Amino acid sequence: MLFQQQFLYAPGPTPVPERVQYAMNKPMIGHRSQEFPLLLEAAATRLKPIFGSDHPVTIIAASGTAALETAAANVLDENDDVTVIVTGAFGDRFASICETFGANVHRLEIEWGKTCSPDELRTFLQQTNKNMKAVIATYCETSTGVVNPVHELGKIVKEMTDALFIVDGVSCIGAVEVDMPRWHIDILASGSQKALMLPPGLAFIACSEQARKVIAETKTKRFYLDLNRYFSSYDNERSTPFTPAISLINGALEVCVMIEEEGLDNVIRRHQLLRSMLREGLKTLELPLLTNDQDASPTITAVMTTTDETKKLKKLLHEKYGLSIAGGQKKLKGEIVRIGHMGYSTPYHMLKMLNGMEMALTELTGSSVLGKGTAKAQEVWMQHV
Ligand SMILES: *Cc1c(COP(=O)(O)O)cnc(C)c1O
Repeated sequence: MLFQQQFLYAPGPTPVPERVQYAMNKPMIGHRSQEFPLLLEAAATRLKPIFGSDHPVTIIAASGTAALETAAANVLDENDDVTVIVTGAFGDRFASICETFGANVHRLEIEWGKTCSPDELRTFLQQTNKNMKAVIATYCETSTGVVNPVHELGKIVKEMTDALFIVDGVSCIGAVEVDMPRWHIDILASGSQKALMLPPGLAFIACSEQARKVIAETKTKRFYLDLNRYFSSYDNERSTPFTPAISLINGALEVCVMIEEEGLDNVIRRHQLLRSMLREGLKTLELPLLTNDQDASPTITAVMTTTDETKKLKKLLHEKYGLSIAGGQKKLKGEIVRIGHMGYSTPYHMLKMLNGMEMALTELTGSSVLGKGTAKAQEVWMQHV
């Protein structure tokens, strides 16, 4: 069977719009040229609403994990106390990064598939009773498909501590609401290849005034990821301390233009529609979902593979129907599959996914569910305003 392409539903990397690919093909320019400062300033400022930031967004040539490491290295000194809310594999990764820099990491472990409630954070901070340098949360936990209530968690952090509130937004920034000042977020980290519909290769960091002060005072050794270098290079010459990923920044600017054209509110609503269409369709197909509706991410959905048949779904979808989804990570390996629906993703992509699911399930179970999930998802789409 000829497939023009594999249809990518991984929670990163995600499909890149043609417009963005064209933008990345622009002729190379020097990063010490006259043009580059204009490009960098345009991208750094037009990313501000997407990050809900008052300040230009810092762009580093690296993957998303480098954004997390940048946050840790620039804020934590050895033996600083830090609380990391661990709702899955990425919270766990952030905790490991903090440990690497010698911090005293207090892990608030939440059952995978659930979110951290404000009460759980409040109780944990009371019981730990340490002078926290930072509290870290994952906005969308990509390994389970939940969104943590960061707007409420930030309030608790500021009520109870003088800590910086640091948020990993790698798998949702560009698809969800966020307001750094109002939600008390000091550092918001993201990457290019998820909801921002770019290839891998850019790490994004937005920082509050308070964060910048702490960053200036942090002693921890760092060179490439020293944010002070990025701040002074941007402030003084609208440039970067090291050679930037110029083509990707051209792409990032085009992404900003696309989001402005659609309207950020509409982008956010579209992702909510994708979530509802897919979840309602999957429920109609009697596939059990890992998370409840209230906690469910608009960017990624996890399906529990509890039966022998559903354990074969991922392979069959890939090999026969050209649909590429992801498996579970760490303790959820073999237990779930994950479907990404972020960035360059439309309602038709959800219908296509449900189409494939219906054919694969019908083949695996021997009883036909053709048309069932898609019909439900079509109803959801038609009701959407
Ligand atoms: C993908 C992801 C990361 C890591 O990003 P890389 O680009 O793979 O380094 C970190 N946090 C979350 C929540 C992610 O989804």
